[in-house]
Amino acid sequence: MKKELDLFLKLTDEIIEAEKDHPVVKPIDPNTLHSALDIGLEDDPVMDDRFESALRDLVMNTPRTASKRFFNQLFGGRNSKAVLGDLLAVVLNTSMYTYKVGGPMIGVELEIIKQSCKIVGYGDRGTGTIPTGGSMSNLMAMIMARDFKKISVTREGISGKYVLYTSEHCHYSIPKNASFIGIGLDQVRKIKTDEQGRMIPSEIELAIEADLAAGNIPFMIIATAGTTVLGAIDPIEPLNRISKKYNLWMHIDGAYCGSIMFTEKYKHLIKGVEESDSFCYNAHKMIGTPLTCSIFLTKHKDAMHESFSIEADYLYQTDHDEFDLGKTSLQCGRRNDALKFWAVWKSIGTKGIRRMVEHHFHLADVARDYVRSHPDYTLYSYDNSVSVCFNYKGIPAKALCKGLYQNAEILVGYGEFKDQQFVRLVTINSQIKDEDVIAFFKTLESFASQMTLV
Ligand SMILES: *Cc1c(COP(=O)(O)O)cnc(C)c1O
Repeated sequence: MKKELDLFLKLTDEIIEAEKDHPVVKPIDPNTLHSALDIGLEDDPVMDDRFESALRDLVMNTPRTASKRFFNQLFGGRNSKAVLGDLLAVVLNTSMYTYKVGGPMIGVELEIIKQSCKIVGYGDRGTGTIPTGGSMSNLMAMIMARDFKKISVTREGISGKYVLYTSEHCHYSIPKNASFIGIGLDQVRKIKTDEQGRMIPSEIELAIEADLAAGNIPFMIIATAGTTVLGAIDPIEPLNRISKKYNLWMHIDGAYCGSIMFTEKYKHLIKGVEESDSFCYNAHKMIGTPLTCSIFLTKHKDAMHESFSIEADYLYQTDHDEFDLGKTSLQCGRRNDALKFWAVWKSIGTKGIRRMVEHHFHLADVARDYVRSHPDYTLYSYDNSVSVCFNYKGIPAKALCKGLYQNAEILVGYGEFKDQQFVRLVTINSQIKDEDVIAFFKTLESFASQMTLV
């Protein structure tokens, strides 16, 4: 192992050095990957030298998501404590399904769940798990909501049209999961949003009444805390009231911005979260842990067992029900996604996480101020969001983002809202500073000036 660890340290040093001078790698055309890199697998082993150079070429040509020029998706940066935790998880290679195999790591996952439940306001009634991402957290919520409506569904299968209500700007995992859970894509009601991209509660009531009149079975509302493009947060309290009135499961998809629960300044945006039935947030987004780390929480301990627990004598051979996390999981083998998050939380405390999340909002304020004070820009997003959406000099966003990518300047994406396409800058890297945000705009402007010359 020593040889590999030495190589690991060497390559990591090289990556970190390279990120400083070349924050964006020149992309390789996917059709030429095999000629550009030594990627092919062969019958015969390769010598150490060739192995090392093949590996080096691969890692050095991989997009640099931890650099100061990566604003493409809802994650970024590199938290060194989280990396340490994750590396140790790999070295230990436990599986988090039983206490027998996971040992104290099970306690680590349970502590994250417990503290998260406390912050959300579920308190001691709360429970949860760490699925393989936000899409899977949403899937778990949807399965539980379906079963909660009628538990016999788990044995008999679904009958009747189960309908759920979510934002027209919901994450695509929701329609996808709707097909998985057997209710069908057609039973997802995409509710209209207001001018800032938030679901309009009265529209949900209208849709529910129409479904009831048609003999359908409304069973769930899914609110979004941080829509993928604008970062909009649906109005939780009115949605809670509707869910209670019609006896629907209320889930909040906070994969993107649910971590605002850690802040003082922004948590009012999800006021009423404690009244929901389930909630999730992705630590691999706002909290900067490596992918993936999504925390799924629910108030209904028993319902979680009812939906996910199946006996398996070959696996569960000790009496540790509460510590056998496989019993409330979608998977069998479970990666230890808890330790990396625990390493961050333990080292900087809840207060440190609060500062981290608030820093992202501060960076977004810096970006919005810049856009607002420069007349060549048009702003399309709103305050209290870490998505800053804009256009520059009317240049089509798609062409601008593509040019920046192909010329290895910046990785940033574009989005759309109400038929308007724009650049979406995501300020979710806690290692960057105000001047890095300004440098983003300066780089974009200088690139755009060459672009128009061509
Ligand atoms: C990112 C995101 C998801 C999906 O999370 P993954 O971990 O990528 O599966 C779901 N919902 C929202 C609102 C998101 O931003």
